[in-house]
Amino acid sequence: MTELMNIKMSVDEIVTNLVSLIQAETINPPGNELPAILVIKDILERAGFPQDALTIVESVSNRANLVARIKGDGSERPLLLSGHLDVVPVERDRWSRNPFGGEVVNGVVWGRGALDMKGFLAMYLQVFLDIFRQKVPLKRDLILAAIADEEAGFTHGSKFLVEQHRELINAEYGLTEGGAITYYFGKTRLYTIQVAEKGVCWLRARAIGKPGHASIPHSDNPVFFLAQAIEKLRRVGHLPVHITPTFLKMLDSAGSQIQSPLSSLTRLLHSPILMSMLLDRLKGDSRNMLRAMVTNTLSPTILRAGSKVNVIPSIAEAEIDCRLVPGQTPEDVKREIRHIIGDRIELETVYTTSGAEFSTETALYKILEQRTRKMDPDGLTIPMLMPGATDACQYQNAGIKVYGFTPGILPPGFPIMQLAHGHDERVPVSYFETGLPVLWDVVNDFCGRPG
Ligand SMILES: [Zn+2]
Repeated sequence: MTELMNIKMSVDEIVTNLVSLIQAETINPPGNELPAILVIKDILERAGFPQDALTIVESVSNRANLVARIKGDGSERPLLLSGHLDVVPVERDRWSRNPFGGEVVNGVVWGRGALDMKGFLAMYLQVFLDIFRQKVPLKRDLILAAIADEEAGFTHGSKFLVEQHRELINAEYGLTEGGAITYYFGKTRLYTIQVAEKGVCWLRARAIGKPGHASIPHSDNPVFFLAQAIEKLRRVGHLPVHITPTFLKMLDSAGSQIQSPLSSLTRLLHSPILMSMLLDRLKGDSRNMLRAMVTNTLSPTILRAGSKVNVIPSIAEAEIDCRLVPGQTPEDVKREIRHIIGDRIELETVYTTSGAEFSTETALYKILEQRTRKMDPDGLTIPMLMPGATDACQYQNAGIKVYGFTPGILPPGFPIMQLAHGHDERVPVSYFETGLPVLWDVVNDFCGRPG
């Protein structure tokens, strides 16, 4: 296996590149990813990367995607490293530093996207560059995709590539955000490799009533109907439990690594009935996280009714963000909701993406697991079902098996969950020092030609 020549130099380069990427502001909406794409193009060209192995495609003006390819000998199908360049908006006055300044202070890089996911992408880019520079012989093509529009619906990014430029990203496997990065769970360091994600199903719930003058109230006011329905959904706590193969793997993997007599109890959670009882008893964050992994969930987020205070409206609406366990359909969750609120409220599907679930019984997954355990032998490494959606749900439509893998060790107490999409997003350089060699080894193990 080829060794990474100079880790220190490569980490320095990641930091420099990440700073440039943070400074190219790409808040989505509107996205405007082109300037950040040109930063990457420039980095590749300065490294001598051949122009004809690099393609930029735009779905509309300024919504650009860059795909670069290092050729292997073709004996195996390609591996795709995909990272999105768009970021979520910021509340500038809540930040202690300029979110687009890219400041490096005491070994920490600050800025929107430092984690999600310009930082991760800078690490993918580095492995790609170093493989190119060190002329590592490959048995499969290595494809780097820097893409648009992950944070607002995939239309100009992964969905666009899959539907209109599939030849560019066609691969057997892919890696993208969301895995093998340290979560502190009490004293345990947890590394979750994302192998599945939930589907999205946005519903509009509509109550129809009778209009009238508000001075003479009547009982057909749709605001009451809608409010009652939402209260019923709140009280039920959770929808029916659906245990997926990924969830079983998570339990078994955790059970086999935890050195505790309690570990055998994880098998009890294979039962949907016991799981449902557990959900009824748990409270707080652990209940919320577990519920998100084993049930279709719903969050009412927008309410709408009436336009004048003295007029009883004829319609009241709520928008509900539902997330579906892989394998569940919008019709399934609507049936579960109707079972609770009855037929009086209309439910309309507004937007949906399917969930994704990839096998842990693959050569690549084994490498990811093995390398993560080697990175932190005392940590707990398990496969994970991600409640949110990533580009993996689009890439699966091209038959690509995608894992969330952006490895690295974070210092104790580092609040990654708060910082990604939150205020003061930042990443310690030590994360790259620990993660880059792991990603390098994974790509070499999986793509390198023995010889
Ligand atoms: Zn992201």
